[in-house]
Amino acid sequence: MTRGFFVGRFQPFHDGHREVVEHVAEEVDELVLGIGSADVSHTVHDPFTAGERVVMVTKAVDDVDVPTYVVPIEDIDRNALWVSHIESMAPAFDVAYSNNPLVARLFREADIEVRNPPMFDRDRFEGTGIRHQMLVGDEWVDHVPDAVVDVVEEVDGVERIRTVAEDDGGDRWEAEEE
Ligand code: NAD
Repeated sequence: MTRGFFVGRFQPFHDGHREVVEHVAEEVDELVLGIGSADVSHTVHDPFTAGERVVMVTKAVDDVDVPTYVVPIEDIDRNALWVSHIESMAPAFDVAYSNNPLVARLFREADIEVRNPPMFDRDRFEGTGIRHQMLVGDEWVDHVPDAVVDVVEEVDGVERIRTVAEDDGGDRWEAEEE
């Protein structure tokens, strides 16, 4: 039995993330999805709470062929301890999937196999761009699963991003990096 682990901030969970899940589901028997930066919300970079993201992700992958578990993972100050921190929270896993260089490095240094999933239409499916589309009123719903649209609407998420962007003085957006 092989259990895979895929972590992301999922701000929001988009169709590229969903494609990764489908790809990983062909290689593993079970999948753990880690909601990274679970302690962070209500900023332009991280607008949605861990609970909101748990609902988004759980509903967006409910038709995937393998059992899938969604686990919130808070950030910690020490990168060197982050993998141990994950292991203390998540079901045991055999292989981690990531294209984030720091994430891949930390898993490899902990002797955990890392696989790099393909990138899917990164021009369209990219968190920073989708949040910017929400902020300025551009079309974004075609870039995320329907379940994500439902959660964003339920929590008035577009208005939340606009409010926190104003609170940041309007210049935070330019400073954002992902
Ligand atoms: P993300 O939501 O931006 O991306 C998640 C994954 O999806 C990444 O591997 C990314 O490469 C992939 N992806 C994005 N768009 C894609 C597309 N179109 N097609 C295919 N794949 C795509 O999240 P992230 O920033 O990579 O998440 C890492 C998390 O780990 C963060 O929450 C970070 O804070 C956390 N972290 C914490 C520590 C610590 O606490 N010390 C250390 C390292 C990482």
